[in-house]
Amino acid sequence: SLPVVLEPEAATSMDIDGTPVRVMADVGCVATSTQAAEAGADGIGLLRMESLYMQSDRALREDEIEQRLSDILAPMAGKPAYVRLLDAGGDKPLPYVKDCSMGCRGIRLLARHPELLQPQLQALLRLARGYRQLHILVPMVTVAEDMRFVRRALENAARREGLAPLPLGAMVETPAAALMIDELWEWCDFIRIGSNDLTQYVMAAPRANLSKDPYFQPTHPAVLKLIRMVCRPEDAALTGLCGSLADQKDMIPQLLQLGVREFVVPPRSIQAIKQAVSEYGCGRQGKQRAGNGTLPPCNNPERIRQGGRV
Ligand code: PEP
Ligand code: MG
Repeated sequence: SLPVVLEPEAATSMDIDGTPVRVMADVGCVATSTQAAEAGADGIGLLRMESLYMQSDRALREDEIEQRLSDILAPMAGKPAYVRLLDAGGDKPLPYVKDCSMGCRGIRLLARHPELLQPQLQALLRLARGYRQLHILVPMVTVAEDMRFVRRALENAARREGLAPLPLGAMVETPAAALMIDELWEWCDFIRIGSNDLTQYVMAAPRANLSKDPYFQPTHPAVLKLIRMVCRPEDAALTGLCGSLADQKDMIPQLLQLGVREFVVPPRSIQAIKQAVSEYGCGRQGKQRAGNGTLPPCNNPERIRQGGRV
């Protein structure tokens, strides 16, 4: 199979312990993507494919997916983008898709419905001819086999189309995926944590009524412990955090200490989260200067890992 080449991505001005910190946008339509560009987002960290499907009363064709994604990506041209495959099922039902139970969501649903998965893969492969830094995210991954399945499907689609496969990564949003992160890396070029679902499944508290449920706590030590497990220093440049936890300004210092180096937040929060990262970085520089009279290292190493695929 063709090797996946990860390009060094847009450098940011922020850097903690030698790893750039990126603040990326969570978008679902042209308006939010435009807003992200205006706010100076470092890229699109999460483009939810379901936002396209939810505006339709039937499954989308490949050309429709390609066109709609292309419109959303346009304002952020030149920046990295992570598009997540359709995450339907469970608490995200689609009226025209059967099997939308809790146990059949995200990749589990797509594996049962190749007619939904194939057009998405093909549209993304085609789109990548014009949009160079495109990445694919797989929702609700639980076991390494989920990723192996998508990797094979992507490679087969790429071969059929005569195109290069794209970098592929897992959403870590079940406790099993977090606990088995070593095995997942075998099939991933990068990792993104979904803090909404991770909280829901770690705390056994449905996210649907998150404002009411006292057990839905994204900042609970049980959730943070799993995040620390996933964000190992050697993987920091290829690991990011999505969901509501990434958007909590007062949690940024603690999340940086846990090893998070990428935050995916709504466009309206880009500036505030960048500010919080920068304040943390400046605070540390001040402390280190006072400590030993020298500046901390400030470099932007290129990708430290070229995918763990075998
Ligand atoms: C999450 O679970 O944190 C996430 C980003 O995905 P979604 O909210 O779309 O399930
Ligand atoms: Mg999720």
